[in-house]
Amino acid sequence: SGPQASPVVVRYGPASDRFLTCQLIQAGEQLLLMVRDVTREARLEAMRKDFVANASHELRSPLTVVSGYLDQLAEDPAMDSDWHGPIEEMRRQSERMRLIVEDLLELSRLEASGKEAPREPVDVGGMLALIRKDVMARDTRPQQVVLRLDSSARLLGSESELHSIASNLVSNAVKYTPAEGSVEIRWWTDRDGGHLSVSDTGMGIPAEHLPRLTERFYRVDRGRSRRSGGSGLGLAIVKHALQRHGGHLTIDSVEGKGSTFTCHFPAKRIEAESGKAAAAG
Ligand code: ADP
Repeated sequence: SGPQASPVVVRYGPASDRFLTCQLIQAGEQLLLMVRDVTREARLEAMRKDFVANASHELRSPLTVVSGYLDQLAEDPAMDSDWHGPIEEMRRQSERMRLIVEDLLELSRLEASGKEAPREPVDVGGMLALIRKDVMARDTRPQQVVLRLDSSARLLGSESELHSIASNLVSNAVKYTPAEGSVEIRWWTDRDGGHLSVSDTGMGIPAEHLPRLTERFYRVDRGRSRRSGGSGLGLAIVKHALQRHGGHLTIDSVEGKGSTFTCHFPAKRIEAESGKAAAAG
C-alpha cells in the first residue's frame, strides 16, 4: 500500500449528530475509501471532556475554602507547636491540588476552544525575558539561566497559550536541574518557521519514557515529580497548545546529562518583518 492520508472526521445525518471518519488509502493502482461510523467514540469523548471540565470547576471553591482556613491556622500564634508540621504539609498538599485543578481547567479550555489559535502578534523575546526574570527570583534554581534571542520576529498566536507553553517548559527545566546546573532558553527563526527551545543540564529522561511523556499524568518518577510539586499535566498542556498553533514538540534527552525540549512553529505563524523592510526602503 502507498502513503496514507490521516482520517478526516465528518458530521452527517439530518441533525448532524453522527460522526464518520473518512480515509483515502492508495493500494497499488487503486484508491480505497474507508468510512467508519465513530459516533459512539465521539460522544464518549465529548462526555469525558465535559466531565473533567465540570469536576475541576466544582472542586475549585471547596479547595479555596480549605486553603483559606489552613492559611489562618498556620498564622495562629495560639496553635500548638506539634501542629506546625502537619499544617504546613496540608498547605503544601492543598496548593498541589489547586495547581492540578488549574491545569485541568486550562486543558479543558484548550480542548473546548476549537482547532486554531488566534493570530495576535506576540513579542517572544519580551515574553521569555519576563519568564526568566520570574525564575531568577526563585530561592531554588539552577545557578545559570541564560536567554538567547537569535530572532526578533514576532509569533502570530495566542499570547496566553504561548506564555503557558514557555513557562511550563522553563519550570520543568528548573525543577529537574540541580543548583549547580544551567538552563538555556532560545528563540530563533529559519525558513521552516520559528523555534523555541529550553535546554537543561539536569537529570535527563531515559529513552523509553520519551514517547509517552506528553500524556496526562505521565511521570517518569512519581516521587520526584510529587516532591517538586508537579501536576503531571504541564507537557500535555504544551502539546495541546502547540497543536493549536500548527506546531509540534521534539524532545532530546540523555539520562544524567540533560534535556532539550523544542517547540517548532510553522512559517505562516511568523510575522513578516514588514515594519523593518519599510523603514529600510
Ligand atoms: P510534572 O508536573 O510532573 O513536571 P509534566 O507533564 O510537566 O509534569 O512532565 C511530565 C514528566 O516529564 C515529569 O514528571 C518528569 O518526570 C519529566 N520531565 C519533564 N521535563 C523534564 C526535564 N526538563 N528534565 C527531566 N525530566 C523532565
